[in-house]
Amino acid sequence: MEDSASSISKWFGLLPPRKFCDDKCYFIPGMANSTVFETNKGLVIFDLPTKQNAMKTFQAIRKFTTKPVKYLIYSHGHFDHAYGSEPFIKEIKEKKWEIPEIIAHENCIRRFEKYKLLDKYHEWINRQQFASVIRDTTNQTIDPNKALYPTIILRGNESNYFFTLDGLEFELYHDKGETDDSIWLWVPEKEIICSGDLILSSFPNIGNPYKVQRYPKDWAIALDKMLEKGAKYLAPGHGQLIEGKENVEDALSITAEALHFVHDEIVKRLNEGKWFEDIYYEMLEIFPEKFRKHPMLKPIYGCYRFAIHATYRLYHGWYDSGNPTDLFPARKKDVAREFLIIANESKYLSRARLLFEEGKLQLALHVLDILILGEEEVSRETLIEALQLKFKILKKKVKQEPSFIAKNIINNAANQIKDKLKIIKK
Ligand SMILES: [Zn+2]
Repeated sequence: MEDSASSISKWFGLLPPRKFCDDKCYFIPGMANSTVFETNKGLVIFDLPTKQNAMKTFQAIRKFTTKPVKYLIYSHGHFDHAYGSEPFIKEIKEKKWEIPEIIAHENCIRRFEKYKLLDKYHEWINRQQFASVIRDTTNQTIDPNKALYPTIILRGNESNYFFTLDGLEFELYHDKGETDDSIWLWVPEKEIICSGDLILSSFPNIGNPYKVQRYPKDWAIALDKMLEKGAKYLAPGHGQLIEGKENVEDALSITAEALHFVHDEIVKRLNEGKWFEDIYYEMLEIFPEKFRKHPMLKPIYGCYRFAIHATYRLYHGWYDSGNPTDLFPARKKDVAREFLIIANESKYLSRARLLFEEGKLQLALHVLDILILGEEEVSRETLIEALQLKFKILKKKVKQEPSFIAKNIINNAANQIKDKLKIIKK
């Protein structure tokens, strides 16, 4: 079996660029994937790389072809799909070529504006989410003021846009999924679909804990529409090129099925009057084996557990427990202090150790949090021990956790504990 480090490096595009189909199509991994179509009249590029990978992708394309870029298409406006334009624009200016058409959905423009508004916040989020791969902290993941705005804009929910270059037809469709600005491409003559992140070779990233609402049902419907095309090649937003009608059909149908499943089972439980906790644990119990085992649904990046949260949120407000204690709750540190008044700190510490030894890591964390949150009531020695044990548990969880996003969240917290311990021990 493939280990998670190898899956994630493939997922992040550490694969060689390659030709495919009739050798006039190029698949260029660069964190996310760019797909290039060469015609006698120039190039159509579906998705730009990240700002950091821009030169690498540009050079890879220029090894295959010297034709001018005529169309740039953003599958959506995330930083790994729409911000690596610099070397392309530089070349266009140097060679005095015409500026290419840039195609995106109107919600992509709203996204670019949002990135300007929440510049610092998004930078912080991305540093948390990608902590294990972003090493250069001086280099921003995106420069919101350098977004290249679209010249051809798909508008509304049912929108599409068809164009021809050198007789080759390109069909673009908008559907919501990971984002509200997704576009996917169908090239009938070559039987190629470029899906953007509607397929990302991992369990669909519906429930990113840091990010805004995503759209499981619309996402499933988008994949159903792709299935109708009967494509021979599927260029996903992340991961390897998928080749052969059967493999394409399998990738699309299993991902669609998983999305329908998450959505429909949660809707059913909402209609039964269930609260989040019950829905969450029931959903974990009924997760079908065929999804768990399927290589396209591995929790490499996002995961099923996150998807449950996000699908619930699609239809539900933030009051999710049904317990009015949670409606206007006290501060957690005040609650912890009350628990420490009821029972001595040593009881919590020994209970947490026992739970840890029994492998009940999550429960151990909850008990330790009483000591850590209630630190003002706790001796320095106990606090140090509680923090050390929490650090150990989090590091163990990092090792066990398959999802890149979850791994980073847990590891960041472990590092914060390490820093806190240094200060306390001084
Ligand atoms: Zn992506």
